[in-house]
Amino acid sequence: MSSFRMIDVIARKRDGHELSAEEIGAFITEYTAGTIPDYQAAALLMAIYLRGMSRRETVDLTLAMAASGDTLDLHDVAPFIVDKHSSGGVGDKTTLVVAPLVAACGVPVGKMSGRGLGSSGGTLDKMESFTGWSSSLSLAQFKRQLGELGLVLAGQTHDLAPADGKLYALRDVTATVDNRSLIAGSIMSKKLAAGTDAIVLDVKTGSGAFMPTVEAAEDLARLMVGIGEDAGRHVVALISDMNQPLGHAVGNALEVREALDCLRGGGPDDLWAHCRTVAGHMVLLAGKVASLEEAEALIDAARADGRGLARFREMVVAQGGDGRQVDDPDRLPRARYKGPIEARQSGYVAAMDTGELGWVSVRCGGGRLVKTDVIRPGVGFLLTVKIGDRVEAGQPIGEVHVDEEAMLAQARHDILAAVTIAGEPAPRRPLFYATIDGEANS
Ligand code: URA
Repeated sequence: MSSFRMIDVIARKRDGHELSAEEIGAFITEYTAGTIPDYQAAALLMAIYLRGMSRRETVDLTLAMAASGDTLDLHDVAPFIVDKHSSGGVGDKTTLVVAPLVAACGVPVGKMSGRGLGSSGGTLDKMESFTGWSSSLSLAQFKRQLGELGLVLAGQTHDLAPADGKLYALRDVTATVDNRSLIAGSIMSKKLAAGTDAIVLDVKTGSGAFMPTVEAAEDLARLMVGIGEDAGRHVVALISDMNQPLGHAVGNALEVREALDCLRGGGPDDLWAHCRTVAGHMVLLAGKVASLEEAEALIDAARADGRGLARFREMVVAQGGDGRQVDDPDRLPRARYKGPIEARQSGYVAAMDTGELGWVSVRCGGGRLVKTDVIRPGVGFLLTVKIGDRVEAGQPIGEVHVDEEAMLAQARHDILAAVTIAGEPAPRRPLFYATIDGEANS
């Protein structure tokens, strides 16, 4: 498009104008092709962040990103494929538990996952704790594995929504993550390109989510459900709590261990309750059963008899990973130093700055501050208390895992500063606030 000048598009958005479908399409095409440099794309992202996008612009952005690479039709290998996607949270290892359990119930899961984004972790970074595991599958490999195993966790490298792959990495390091249109475009472009029939969106809200209020999360959920339904997909969004980390572990390999515990029948109660509901909705959307209760019963059975764990192991091995790390999680990477976290005062856990807790893990090396940062898989922390719990001064409430001894004290300090302890009992947090589906949205 010869008349297209990126500088004009940046200026128009900077000045608060609506971008046309052609402008958005040209930006996505040329950025994907590498003819627009990161600094101009970053400037446009910041202008979008500050000025916002209308629903029409968001839909155009999503469709352009979905069309930036291959779009899959997977029905020759699986008749009906479900997927789930989280809007991003701290300690959110749901996919690692849910995907194999749903696949073990006979519902194929072909999932395109992301890396860490801002203070939130990413499934691919967690999975790369397994030695040799790779998310870069060719289309043929993706299809073969989906057909044979019913379970694939892939990245964007095989040309599905490559625009999102590039923009996601850029947003991560330019403070442009928590924007409704950019999140909707990122999530839904991947889902549309991957040819999934049904999608459960886990839209987080709270101090560790990109959407701080339930209202903002519902707004994002309605936007994504609408985009999906318009494209002929079945979409359900669950608004879930992110005012504290999900489970106890934050940090890649620590979260993998916790997910494995959960697949083995253990793990923190909140994590399992959350995963069971998300997995149940996936099985329900696939039409396997008539009610959520029946779907959850299928999920319980797949966990109890070890089919979920076995399916997870098969996926790890199929994607080049070391299955012995599933059998014996002590073989997963570990940080070089660990130290206890003790409550500084007695009282009740009243609140957590969960985003800051996520950043503690990032600063320890569990995420990226610049695009080239290399992840340290073993670092992070365990925080074993929940909002509403009673604690006594000096009580161990967690454990920090770092690779440099000098980081122990700082990380411990930052974690304690992010956990508010008050004299009065605080109400416990619900796991879910609302469910939004296509009908409720229409
Ligand atoms: N997950 C994504 O894939 N993209 C976002 O922007 C946020 C969460």
